[in-house]
Parts: sequence; C-alpha cells; structure tokens
Amino acid sequence: MKPTTAPRTYRVKSFGCQMNVYDGERMAEMLATRGIKPAPEGEEADLVVLNTCHIREKAAEKVYSDIGRLQKADGTKPLIAVAGCVAQAEGEEIMARAPAVSMVVGPQAYHRLPEMLDKAVQGERATDTDMPAIAKFAALPERRKIGPAAFLTVQEGCDKFCTYCVVPYTRGAEISRPYSDLVTEARKLVEAGAREITLLGQNVSAWSGENDRGHRVGLAGLIRDLADLDGLARIRYTTSHPADMDDELIAAHGEIDKLMPFLHLPVQAGSDRVLRAMNRSHTAESYLKLLDRFRAARPDLALSGDFIVGFPGETDAEFEETLRLVDEVGYAQAFSFKYSPRPGTPAASMDGQIAKEVMDERLQRLQAALNRDQLAFNQGTVGRTCEVLVERKGKHPGQWLGKTPWLQSAWFDGDYAIGDLVEVELLEAGPNSLRASVRESALSLA
Ligand code: SAM
Ligand code: SF4
Repeated sequence: MKPTTAPRTYRVKSFGCQMNVYDGERMAEMLATRGIKPAPEGEEADLVVLNTCHIREKAAEKVYSDIGRLQKADGTKPLIAVAGCVAQAEGEEIMARAPAVSMVVGPQAYHRLPEMLDKAVQGERATDTDMPAIAKFAALPERRKIGPAAFLTVQEGCDKFCTYCVVPYTRGAEISRPYSDLVTEARKLVEAGAREITLLGQNVSAWSGENDRGHRVGLAGLIRDLADLDGLARIRYTTSHPADMDDELIAAHGEIDKLMPFLHLPVQAGSDRVLRAMNRSHTAESYLKLLDRFRAARPDLALSGDFIVGFPGETDAEFEETLRLVDEVGYAQAFSFKYSPRPGTPAASMDGQIAKEVMDERLQRLQAALNRDQLAFNQGTVGRTCEVLVERKGKHPGQWLGKTPWLQSAWFDGDYAIGDLVEVELLEAGPNSLRASVRESALSLA
C-alpha cells in the first residue's frame, strides 16, 4: 500500500450487539486522543472503522460490500480498519480478499489500533487477532463525555458453547474485569454525565471478582456497590444465561431500588429436545421456574428474551412448544432470529437443516405472538406513574424521549434537558412507545 497522510477525521460503524457499541465508543475515544475528529454528518471520514458482527446471516459478505462502497468526496478510499467478530473469525481472508483494508483488529486487541494506524499511514498493512482481554482495558484511554445512558463492559467471552453460536470462538473464554477497575470506570462515567449504566457481558451474570473488602462477589455484589455511587440513578445488566443466575442476583432485584425492573434472559426455544441439541443447560420448565423466582422478588419485572427458530431438526410440534412458552411468559419485549449456520460450530453440520420457507413462516408466527405480548405489556403499564430518563429530543419542538424503568420508550412535552429524570404518568400505549404526561418537575442535574 502507498503511504498516506495521517487521517484528520474518523467514523466508527458498529454492527450487532451492545458490546460492539461499547467497543466502538472506546475505539472512538482512542482516536480522539490522537487528535482525530469525528467526520461531519454526511461526509466520508479519512479513517473508517467497520466494527463487525458475526452472529448471523452473511456477515462477512456484508463487510466486503461495505468496503467496496466506501469512498471519499475526492474519489479516493479512506483508510479502512475491520474490527469486531468478523475480523477475529476471518482476518487473514479479509486481508487477502480486500486490498483496500489496511487494518484488521479483533475484539480483544483493539487497544493496539493507534499503533496499527501509524503503520497504515506508512503504507503497511497489519492484522492483530490476539486475545489479551485484560491488557486491552488497561491500555484504553479515560472515558469522555457521554450521554445519560452508558454501557460498561464487565465481562467478556463465553464458555457455554451453545452448538449454534460463534461467540466462544470470536470473543474467547469467559473473563471478568477486576472489581476496582469497574468501580473506577463507573465513577468516571457518572462524572462524564451518565445517570444510567448498563453492565455488559456475553454472560454478564457469570461475572465474579474480589471487592475492596477482599471478599469474592458475584454480579449482585458489584451492583450493590455501584448503587452507592452518588449521581448514578439506574443500573441495568445484559445478557444473562439461565445457568448463572444465583439467589443473590434474584434478591438484588427486590432490594436495590437503582436496579431497574427489567431482565433479559434468553431461552432460545421451548422444546427440551431442541434445548439439549443446542447445548443449553436449562429446560423449558427450569427456565419458567427461574422466572417465577425473579417475579416473586420483583413483581413488576419486565421480561425479555432471545429466540431461534428453525434450529436443525426442529419439528412443527417442537416449534409449537416455543409458542406455548411465549404464551406462558408474556414477554415485554424480545429478539427472535432464524437459525443461521455459523461455519465451524457443531450445529452447522447437524442433519435436518430446516428449509428457509419453514423458518420464515415460524419466525412470522413467533414475532406475531411476541408483538402481541409487547403491546399488551405496554398497555398494562398505562395509568402507572414512573420516572423517565430523558435521552433525546423528540420529533416536535418541546418533545422529549426517554426510557421508563421497564425499558419502554416514552415521549412527553415540557421544558427539560437530556439527563433529567422526569416523573410522568403513562397515558397511551403503542407497540413500540408510550405517550406520557409530566407529573412534577424533576430536578435538573444536567
Ligand atoms: N450470550 C447471550 C445468550 O446466551 O443469550 C447472547 C449471545 S448472542 C450475541 C445473542 C443472540 O443471538 C443469542 O441469544 C441467539 O438468540 C442469537 N444467535 C446466536 N447465534 C445464532 C445463530 N447461529 N443463528 C441465529 N441466531 C443466533
Ligand atoms: Fe453464544 Fe450460548 Fe455463549 Fe450466549 S451462552 S454467547 S448463545 S455460546
């Protein structure tokens, strides 16, 4: 590659999960410490980072078509870095197939992006897909001013090896970031304007660490201590695995006011045979019993889940079991996907791969049931009074949008600022948002 001038602007494009959003923010912070500025709206940047997701569909093909489309106003290509899970899984191939890419960096190695950038400017191409996860966090710069709702990665990787999933291969083994690093980062986020923090991990409930009193604690212990931070109003966490939910975490939902009444707990399917073939360690019944215990601790808990339809060998009757489970739970929201064979995972070579039309039809039926329940949940909250964290302006002047404790979007009129906590009454429910009216002026801390 030819040497080029150092980039003055950057754009980080993150796809997929919230952990990628977090990683994207951290990469942007690193580039900012180099004096590189975000590209103005509508203008292509000198440096583009494609922070990719490999979980479903033709992720790699999408990356190549994105690379092909990238072009600056003068007709030249920007410097391109491919990051995220596609980079981890297909790094060498990307380098071979896409000469326009000068940097390929995996999710555990992106703290080395600035050095790679120096080389790229000299015309050298570089790939880094090492997995020194803890080193990464230590090498990242300080948190900068962020919005009122922030993400904080506390745990990375996965040892569960669900047979359909690529995460254990792209993100590596489960690791927990140290307690003191997390408390420090959370404090910095609050100082930078965060009022809500969502603790992130592929298996966030598997987090464990030693607290400042020298005791081994799990996620509930961390949440308890973060709840003591002045200025932090709300805590959430995602994503959990049913196998790691302990009594303390369940109890925390009933005891810690700042822990929001929302639980994202993927089940994937309602048939025990399919769950076994997926290598999930729960049954439909054990999952439902677990939810009962959470609901006993926090009766107004809103539930969310993930579903896969068309796992290899799934029969019509087994799919019906998923619909029955949905009926029983009454989810407030959920994500549902068609099974997508991931190269190298055990399920990709299982017999009984399901035809696309069958998957389409199953997904449609499942989503109709989930949408019905989401609307019903929203309607069930009409008349309630709750706090909304103002996250952005609405479409019309004087309109504001924020999240309720149950993670619903609510909009209302008034004179507020982003970051305010406003007490509202929920008036009217749609499938994706609620109209609210303000009950009393909240104290602006912005
Ligand atoms: N660790 C979390 C868990 O176990 O639920 C989330 C991991 S993954 C990033 C998010 C969701 O993607 C999964 O819960 C699953 O529903 C879906 N998923 C993962 N692999 C998939 C595949 N091969 N095909 C379709 N959906 C998939
Ligand atoms: Fe993937 Fe299963 Fe691990 Fe979730 S628990 S990241 S679905 S292997």
